[in-house]
Amino acid sequence: MAELSARMRSMVQPYLAGIEPYDPNFTPTRINLSANENTYPLPADVREAVDAALAATPLNRYPDPMSNELRDELAARHGVARENICVGNGGDELLFNFLLAFGGEGRQLLNCPPCFSEYEFFASLTRTGVRNVRRDRKTFALDERALLAAAPQASLAIITSPNNPTGDIVERSFIERLCHACPGPVMVDEAYIEFADAGASTEELLEDCPNLVVLHTLSKAFGAAGIRCGYVIAAPDVIEVFAAIRQIYSVNVLTQAAAAAMVRARDAFSPVVEQIRSERERMYRALAADGRLTVWPSQGNFLLVRMEGASRIRERLRDEFSILVRDFSYAPGLDDCLRITVGTPEENDEVLAALAALLD
Ligand code: PMP
Repeated sequence: MAELSARMRSMVQPYLAGIEPYDPNFTPTRINLSANENTYPLPADVREAVDAALAATPLNRYPDPMSNELRDELAARHGVARENICVGNGGDELLFNFLLAFGGEGRQLLNCPPCFSEYEFFASLTRTGVRNVRRDRKTFALDERALLAAAPQASLAIITSPNNPTGDIVERSFIERLCHACPGPVMVDEAYIEFADAGASTEELLEDCPNLVVLHTLSKAFGAAGIRCGYVIAAPDVIEVFAAIRQIYSVNVLTQAAAAAMVRARDAFSPVVEQIRSERERMYRALAADGRLTVWPSQGNFLLVRMEGASRIRERLRDEFSILVRDFSYAPGLDDCLRITVGTPEENDEVLAALAALLD
C-alpha cells in the first residue's frame, strides 16, 4: 500500500503521518466475489418500487437530517421505535461515529481480531487505543474469558456477528455478560445477520442491556451496497449521541427514498437470502471435500478458505479466470486465507471449477 508523500507527512496532524491510503486491491473482473456484496439482481418489483421512489424525489431540497420516514420503516421492521434508530451513510459512517463519540485519546476499544479491519482503522483516526483479544488460532472462537476480564477497562467494544471474515456468530448470552462487564457501549456488528440462522440476532437484549448497540446495513442482504445506507439500533440516549455528532446531511435524498422503498418491500428479499444460504452450504461442502483446503463453517454470505499459496491462487483466479476474491494472507492469523463471497449458482460453479483447475 502507498504511503503519504513526505510533503504531506509534514503537513498533516502528526498522528496521521503514518496512515496508508486504503487500497481495496480492486480490479474490474467478470465475476467479483471480493466485497461480500449481494450479486443477485434486485427482485423486479422491488427495482420498480425503488425507481418510482427515486423519480418522485425532488433534488433541490436538503435531505431530512434524521431520515425519519426511513427510520419509521426500519422501526417497523425491528419492532422498535423511531427513537431507537439512527441512519448513516453506510455502516462505515456509523462505525466511525461510534469511535469518534465513545473512543478518543486515553480510551480503549475492545476488539477481537481477526475481524473487520475498519474498526482498528477508525480507532487510529480517532486516536483510540485498541485492546485486541485475539480469536482462537484454529477455530476463530472468541476468547470469552479474556474478553470479560478486559471489559471493565474498555471504553467501548465491537463484536462482529456473523464475523467478517471468519463467518461465526456470537452467543447471545455472552453479549449479555459482556454488556454487564463493560462500562461503555458494546456494539454488535450484525451487517450479515440476515444470512445467519433464525434467532441469531442479539437485538432481543436491547431491552435489558442499555449499553448495547446493534449495527445493520442495507449493503448485504438488501443488495444495496451502492446506495450507502446503514443504521444502528440502541437505547434512545445512545441514539441521541449518534444524532448529535453526525454530519447532518450525510444520508442523501436518493438513498433515503431508495432505502425506504426497499425496507418496505423487505419480504421480497427472503427468497434471495435463502438461495444465498443454500449456495453457501453447497460451496462449503464442495470446498471441504477437497483435502487440500481448509474451510470454516459460515453464517455470512462468504466463506474463508485456507490453501497453500493462497496469494498466488488469488492472482491466477483474477488473471486467468477473471474472478476476484479477497486475499487475507497478509492479516495476522489468516495466513494463506482467501475470502470468497457466495455468488449466484453460476458464479459459484465457476469458482469451484477454476479452483479445481488451479489446484491440480
Ligand atoms: N461491518 C462489517 C462486518 C462489514 O463487513 C461491512 C462491509 N464490508 C460493514 C460493516 C460496513 O458496510 P457498509 O458501510 O457497506 O454499510
